[in-house]
Amino acid sequence: EAKNSGRNRYAFFEAQMNRSLQLKRMVEDDLRRAIDNDELTLHYQPQVSVDGSTIVGVEALVRWPHPVHGMIPPSDFIAIAEERGLIMPLSEWVLRRACLEAKRWKGIRLAVNVSPIQFRHKDFVANVIRIIDETDFDPAQLELELTEGVLIEDADAAEAAMMDIRAHGVGLALDDFGTGYSSLIYLRRFAFDKIKIDRSFLEYMEATGESAILVHSMAHLGRALGLRVCAEGVETAEQHRFLQAIGCHELQGFLFSRGVPASEIDRLLRLDNPFAEILAAA
Ligand code: C2E
Ligand code: MG
Ligand code: MG
Ligand code: MG
Repeated sequence: EAKNSGRNRYAFFEAQMNRSLQLKRMVEDDLRRAIDNDELTLHYQPQVSVDGSTIVGVEALVRWPHPVHGMIPPSDFIAIAEERGLIMPLSEWVLRRACLEAKRWKGIRLAVNVSPIQFRHKDFVANVIRIIDETDFDPAQLELELTEGVLIEDADAAEAAMMDIRAHGVGLALDDFGTGYSSLIYLRRFAFDKIKIDRSFLEYMEATGESAILVHSMAHLGRALGLRVCAEGVETAEQHRFLQAIGCHELQGFLFSRGVPASEIDRLLRLDNPFAEILAAA
């Protein structure tokens, strides 16, 4: 009897696995079509000067408005795109669209996320430069966000690609700082312009808690190394005050704005002090 139920359970798991494989294949087909047919869209989240007065940049965040499943966040399809060989066309679509849309925003930076698989591709730098050229985008206005994962596997190749990309005038930010496995030595070795303190550190931060100590140390370290320090996931006025006091340069988070369509960035950039009301209320 026990044997029997074991077998049944196995069959059940097998069915589940097949279903999830099927699901993945469906998502893969759908996603390929969405990329080909220009059905993805970008939202942009403002990056704000630490006093909250000025938008200094925007981060492009990909979204998939699905006809059946609604707006799908990147966490639900980037991994599948990486697994199923779709991350290159997806990434090129994102960069091209972002450059085309952000061209009209003069004097602010455009930050674009880079997948580790995309970064390790031998044509990574060439592809980026080609898209910048084709879209007539100012490379000095572009900043690529890398995660620590890209540095581990082949540090020499990573270093070479980073030097190359920087020689073209493109900036580099280390995203999700503090969550990876790499040693702090990497910060000195690799040519970043900026670190982005991961929002998990801010999540339960009280001014006296351990997270606060970590955030303070990361900000200090970044500054000491001559990097710009951005805190992501800023949701409260209290966090804002703390981050300002410890010397962060830039802030990004729902306190100011979520990722919004390009037309909303147009509107925000026309305002003199776009977050004045939010800050006054806080
Ligand atoms: P990320 O690069 O760290 O982007 C920041 C994420 O944090 C965004 O989620 C943003 O909406 C969210 N966020 C920002 N401020 C707050 C806040 O105050 N509170 C909370 N709770 N969340 C906040 P999103 O758009 O869902 O993106 C998730 C991740 O997906 C990104 O993390 C990035 O790693 C990846 N991603 C997004 N767009 C792209 C893309 O075009 N290419 C690649 N390769 N990855 C992308
Ligand atoms: Mg990012
Ligand atoms: Mg991040
Ligand atoms: Mg993050």
